Amino acid sequence: MGAWALLLPLLLAAAQAQGCSVNQTLFEIEENTVLSGPLVDIQVPEGQQVTLGPLTTLHAFRIEGNQLFLNVTPDYEDKTMLLADLQCRRGDTVVAQLKVFVTVLDVNDNPPVFPFEVKRKEVPEDTKVNTIVIPQEELAATDLDKSDILFYTLQEVTPGAGSVFSLVGTNLPALRLDQPLDFDRSQHMTLLLRVRDTWEENAVPSHSATATLVLEVQPADLRPPWFLPCLYSDPHVCVQAQYHGAIPTGHKLPAPLILRPGPIYAVDGDRGINQRIIYSILRGNEDGTFVINADSGNLTMAKSIPSPKTFLLLVKGEQEDQARYAVTQVTVEARAAAGSLPRFPEGLYRGTVALGSGVGVTVQDAADPSQPLRIQAQDPEFPDLNSAITYRITNNSNFRMDGEAVLTAAPLVRAGVFYAEVQANNTVTGGTATTVLEIQVSEQEPPPPTGTTLKPPALSTPGGPSSVGTSTSPSSASSSGGSQQTSKPGSPGAGGGAGDSGHGEDQRFSALEMGVLGGVLGALLLLALLALGILVHKHYGPGFQCCSSHVLKPQPYGFDNKAFLPDHREPSWSPAPSPVPSGTPAQVPPATPVPSPPTTPLPAPPPPPAPPSPPSPGQAPESSAARDEDGPAGVRSILTKERRPEGGYKAVWFGGNIGAEADVVVINAPFSDADDADGAGDSGSDSGGDSSGDEGADAGPGWGPRADAPGTDSTYI
Ligand code: CA
Ligand code: CA
Ligand code: CA
Repeated sequence: MGAWALLLPLLLAAAQAQGCSVNQTLFEIEENTVLSGPLVDIQVPEGQQVTLGPLTTLHAFRIEGNQLFLNVTPDYEDKTMLLADLQCRRGDTVVAQLKVFVTVLDVNDNPPVFPFEVKRKEVPEDTKVNTIVIPQEELAATDLDKSDILFYTLQEVTPGAGSVFSLVGTNLPALRLDQPLDFDRSQHMTLLLRVRDTWEENAVPSHSATATLVLEVQPADLRPPWFLPCLYSDPHVCVQAQYHGAIPTGHKLPAPLILRPGPIYAVDGDRGINQRIIYSILRGNEDGTFVINADSGNLTMAKSIPSPKTFLLLVKGEQEDQARYAVTQVTVEARAAAGSLPRFPEGLYRGTVALGSGVGVTVQDAADPSQPLRIQAQDPEFPDLNSAITYRITNNSNFRMDGEAVLTAAPLVRAGVFYAEVQANNTVTGGTATTVLEIQVSEQEPPPPTGTTLKPPALSTPGGPSSVGTSTSPSSASSSGGSQQTSKPGSPGAGGGAGDSGHGEDQRFSALEMGVLGGVLGALLLLALLALGILVHKHYGPGFQCCSSHVLKPQPYGFDNKAFLPDHREPSWSPAPSPVPSGTPAQVPPATPVPSPPTTPLPAPPPPPAPPSPPSPGQAPESSAARDEDGPAGVRSILTKERRPEGGYKAVWFGGNIGAEADVVVINAPFSDADDADGAGDSGSDSGGDSSGDEGADAGPGWGPRADAPGTDSTYI
C-alpha cells in the first residue's frame, strides 16, 4: 500500500500528461457488494482507445465504452485488493497507463467452524485438578473472516459436568479439570462447546457453531481391596469386615471354616478396574495351624489344635498387581468341645432374589431384602458359632450354600417360589439337621399378594377344540357352544362366555373342555329339534301333506323325520343363508354350494323312505330341485324364516337365529287334524313313483331353503 501511495501521484501525472484520465483511482468496497453501474468513467482523448492491461486482476474488470465496470462481486476472503490496469493506445502504441485500485473491505460473512463434530477424550480418574484436559489447539474453531474474534462458552449436557470442567478463557478454548473425577459416580461426561464470532450475541451479522465434547473417565487405582461386607461404605471408603470362627480342639476340620459375618472375601475398591485379590496370612498363624487359599480366601486347618486358645490372624488381601493391599483380622477360637447335634432355630427360612439373576447371586433375606439371607444352625456347645458345621442344599440345583449364605447356582429365568432343603452337617461329629428354604424369585417390584407364579401353565390347545366347536356358518359364534373361536385371549370376565375363560388369566376350563361342552349342548339342541320335528310332523304333517297332495301324491312318506336326522341334514343345512344350528358342531357338515337344479327329473321310482339311511350328497340337489319345481305348483312349507301373515297354511317360523331357538307359529290351520291325517295317509299310499317330481322330493331331506324358488318364501319340509 505504501509503495502504491508513492507511485500513484506519478502515475496520475503521467496519465494526465498523456491524455487518458479518471477522476478517482482508489476505491473501497465492502465485500459481497454488487455495483449497479460503472465503477468509474474514463476520459479518453480523441484518437485513443483504452484497454485493460496484463496487470489487471484476472476477470475482475471490464471496459464498456469508456467506462470501467467491476466484473465480479468482491470477496475479501478471496482477494483483498483488485487492480484495473488501464492502457490508452493510439493504434498499437501504448500512450499512457492508468491504474485503478479497489480495496475490498471485510464483512463478517463466514461462520466459525470447529475441526470436529464430536471429540472424545479419555481422562484418567486420577487426573489432578487444574490440569488442561484438552489443549486449545484441539478445540479452537476457525473463521474465514480474518478480523473476527471468536468467543467460546461451555454448556453441560451430563448434569454436573459443567462444574467438573471449564474453559481456560472465553477466547482460550482449552478444557480444564476443576474437580476430582470419580469413575463410580460418572464414567462419561458430555459437554457442548459453543463458539460465536461476535461478542454480542444478537449482533448482526453474527455466527456461531457447536461441537460436542465427550469425556470418558478411565478408572484409576485409587482404592485398596475391601474386605466384605463393609460395615460402612461409600464410593471412596469401606470400613472393612473382620471375621471370626470357633472350632473344636483335637480335630482337623476337613472343610473351609465357616466364619462370620461370612467367608473371607475382598474386592478391589476400584470397581472399574476390579483387580484380582490375592490372600495371605501375615501373622498370627502359630505353628502353621491354618492355610488360606490365595485365590478364594478360604481358611482351612492344616492341623488340629490340642488345647483351647484363640488365634488372631492378620489376613492380607492384595491386588494382583501388588499396587495396593488391605489387612483385616480373623479371630479363630479353639474350644474344648466336640460339638453336638446341630439344630436349626427356624423350620423355614425365606429368601428372595431377582428374576433374571445369574450364577453366584446372593439370596437376600425376604424379611429384610437389603441383607443377605443367613442360615445358621446352632450347636449348644458352641454358643455363638461352630465353624465345623457346613451347609448344603440337597434337592435344588438352582441354589447352593456358600457358608451360611445362599447363592444362585443357575440363571434364574422363571419367576416363582422355590423350595429347597438345607442340611447342616457337623463335620466333626457327623450330626446333621435339615430345614426348609423358601426362595421367592420375582421381578424387582414386590410380588403380588396372590401367588400367581405358582399357577400351572395355561392350557392352550388351539387346534383340537376349534375343530369341535367349529360350525360351517360364522353366525354360529353367537351360540355358547361354539364361541371359543371368537373369544379374545386375556379378557377374563368379558362377556361371560364360557369360551373366554379358556384363554383368560384365570383359566379354569381348557378350550378342549369347552369344545366338548359345546358339542353336548349342540347334541341337546339337536334332540330338541328332533322332538320339535316329530311334534310338528305328528300334529300338522298330515295337514300340509293333504294340502299339497295333488302335487306330492306319489310321495310315500313325505319329509318326516329324515329332515331332522343329522345324517340327512347334511346337504340341506348347508345352503341356509345365515341361521345354522351351531349347537351341533360335530355333525354340521362343511358348507357346500348348492348345485344348480337339474332340468330333467330322474325317472327312477322313489326308494322306501322308512329306514333313514344317510343319503349320498349327490341326492340332495335332486331333491331340492324337485321341490323347487313343485313349490310354485302349490307346496307350502310349514318351515319359514319369516312370519307370513297370509293365511291358508301352517308354518313353523324360525327366529333370526335358528341356532339359538325356534319359534313354532301356527297360522290359520285350515284343516282339522282328522283331515290332515287322512290326507297324509292318502298321499303316502299313493306314492307310486310315476312323477319325477315326487321322486326327487323323496330323495331330498327337504331342509334346504329355496330363497330363489319362484312364488314362495317358504322353506320346504
Ligand atoms: Ca465470521
Ligand atoms: Ca468476510
Ligand atoms: Ca485399586
